[in-house]
Amino acid sequence: MQYRIDPKTGARISALGYGCMRFTKNGVAVDQAKAERELTAAAEKGVNYFDTAYIYPGIEDALGKWLAQGWRDKVYVATKTPHYLYKDLAAFDACLAQQLRRLRTDYIDYYLIHMLCDVHQWERLQALGIEAWIDRQKAAGVIRHIGFSFHGGTENFMRVLDAYDWEFCYLQYNYLDETSQAGVRGVRYAAEKGVGVIVMEPLRGGRLSRRLPKEALDAFAQVPVRRTPTDWALRWLWNQPEVLSVLSGMNDLSQIEENAATADDAAVGALTEEELALYDRACRAIRKASRIGCTGCGYCMPCPKGVDIPVCFRTYNDRYSDSWYIGMKEYLMCTTLKKTPSNASLCAGCGKCEQHCPQGIAIRRELREVQRQMEGPIYHAARRLLKLVARY
Ligand code: SF4
Ligand code: SF4
Repeated sequence: MQYRIDPKTGARISALGYGCMRFTKNGVAVDQAKAERELTAAAEKGVNYFDTAYIYPGIEDALGKWLAQGWRDKVYVATKTPHYLYKDLAAFDACLAQQLRRLRTDYIDYYLIHMLCDVHQWERLQALGIEAWIDRQKAAGVIRHIGFSFHGGTENFMRVLDAYDWEFCYLQYNYLDETSQAGVRGVRYAAEKGVGVIVMEPLRGGRLSRRLPKEALDAFAQVPVRRTPTDWALRWLWNQPEVLSVLSGMNDLSQIEENAATADDAAVGALTEEELALYDRACRAIRKASRIGCTGCGYCMPCPKGVDIPVCFRTYNDRYSDSWYIGMKEYLMCTTLKKTPSNASLCAGCGKCEQHCPQGIAIRRELREVQRQMEGPIYHAARRLLKLVARY
């Protein structure tokens, strides 16, 4: 296994991390025996970073049962707290206590504020006294390192990163998101600050492994070396020195085998110029197959009405390329569950953005379509519900 050094803590972390969210389930219950076989296989291949979250049903408990079989002191455990559900520090205490019980441990190596996507969310937590709470948990040895997970655009990411002395962060990153989400600028910014970057969604929910359009597959066939789409996607990440670890949601022994083999073989700067050019061609092919050919460049921004145009288009595309659920979840999370929303229906039709779009996208027309498809009755019901239960 390839290991990388956490720039803040000096820990030696496996380049391949285990995202436990996708354990196989029988109905609602985790298939414990299968999960344990997979966790053990990964650990035996050298994976030493295991990620879960409070809100993943049954996953902390399943991971905890495996950890209790002699693995706890051999691996790093990461989990997340759903800050947006809590109105006081007592709720954070209760969550952490339950997590420790579920994980059958008395400490968490890497603890995350889950989905901290906007600096205003952090300001709310600061007002609750979260910084002193973190200090207390760290002094007690219950939390070893503190970070946050992020979905959203580069500027917001940088603002959240600057708002506290974070030790590590999670962000969605893959070759299709090089200039969207936190993007390469966000990744480099975090690395410059010495904050460990752990990657989520390296395969874009399977889009870059199982569902590549033929033209993208053809692009990767231009070089003599034969690699699977998953291998290509992971290598792109491990080519970059800023990436500390890549979380893969593995739930099959063959996936563990394949991903661990790539992690063994990949290295920083190992991809040739010719190979790197293939990713651009693959991206063009994927975007061509997308409903809206937005590259996420951001030249159309800022919008005077606050619309996050690239995010609206990306999540709309996800709805068709990945699934309705993925698109809608991302749309709600990135444009709506924030103090200052940035959803498509805020567009006032001024046209300023269209003067700057190098792709010549009819942004106003497309935003109307995004609004029509994404902001239906389910969106409004979810928005009302989340306003009742979530705090942001
Ligand atoms: S047309 Fe709409 S999205 Fe574009 S800048 Fe004007 S208000 Fe913003
Ligand atoms: S300028 Fe065009 S391609 Fe770039 S993010 Fe805006 S809409 Fe997308």
